[in-house]
Amino acid sequence: MIVRKSMAELEKMRAAGLLVWKILEEMRGMIQEGVSTHDLEVKAEKMMQEAGAKSAFKGYSTPTAGKFPSVLCASVNDEIVHGIPSKNRVLKNGDIISIDTAVQLSGYYADSAITVAVGEISAEAKKLMAVTLESLELAIDKARPGNRLFDICGTVERHVQSNGFSIVREFVGHGIGTQMHEEPQVPNYVDRRGENPRLKEGMVLAIEPMVNAGKPGSRVKADKWTAVTEDGKYSAHFEHTVAITADGPWVLTRP
Ligand code: MG
Ligand code: MG
Repeated sequence: MIVRKSMAELEKMRAAGLLVWKILEEMRGMIQEGVSTHDLEVKAEKMMQEAGAKSAFKGYSTPTAGKFPSVLCASVNDEIVHGIPSKNRVLKNGDIISIDTAVQLSGYYADSAITVAVGEISAEAKKLMAVTLESLELAIDKARPGNRLFDICGTVERHVQSNGFSIVREFVGHGIGTQMHEEPQVPNYVDRRGENPRLKEGMVLAIEPMVNAGKPGSRVKADKWTAVTEDGKYSAHFEHTVAITADGPWVLTRP
């Protein structure tokens, strides 16, 4: 069942969303050569504590991987998602880093991710980041009452594939609200085996294209969390939490 939220609930999700935005903008400002992903983690955790928010990631647990140890997913270069911040992971010129974070504030979640360049990056990496972000923006525009889920999924798929990149299939977007992961799943491709519900006012979706420069295949590293591309090529990731309203899409994770 897809839970629809009242305007009062959306306002609470908005407060969580603006905190996530503020943290990600702080991360964007900090990202440069010589900074470790642990440095980013420390700052993000402090900001959550100061705001009275709870991390949605730290302590999040799955039967196969156990508890995630951090408030950020920091995924560098060939890492697609779920990279664990570490003092040993020091950013260098030419890297790209995806920072994904989510908080719970007053009982409601918001989830967002950005990919940021470290210094001077290759032309291909620039295009990968641009196409991934464009695919998110195009998909957000489809988040309107009367459209269907596949309008969002297909928009990402077409934009990415027409630009020669590939879509990660093992990880998908999701509904969000009083739980970080609610129905429906939001794949970045049209999954004909899945449901194609009509989008209605009050639904909230975390739309999050994960795009590989090379082949779509991924594998999970020995830490049981970090997903990397099989071919070692770069991957980019952008995400927003988007409410479907009568006036169109309301991106809760940016001002
Ligand atoms: Mg996320
Ligand atoms: Mg998400």
